[in-house]
Amino acid sequence: MEDWKGQCHRCGNFSSSHGMSFFNVDLLCGDCLDKEEAHPKFAEAKETELAAVMRGDYNFPGIGKPADL
Ligand SMILES: [Zn+2]
Repeated sequence: MEDWKGQCHRCGNFSSSHGMSFFNVDLLCGDCLDKEEAHPKFAEAKETELAAVMRGDYNFPGIGKPADL
């Protein structure tokens, strides 16, 4: 996984705040994180990610970014 260098992996915007995608391992700016949260599959992505962490799989790659995100 790449470290945060101030630039969103998805939209390319520079941002001071960031977080990791729940759909894949991209590091995202606040705007992209908001878009993920609004996506219909966000709950599923988050649950799947949390289930992986619970079983000790900290390198879980996510369910994959939906084509319409
Ligand atoms: Zn972004």
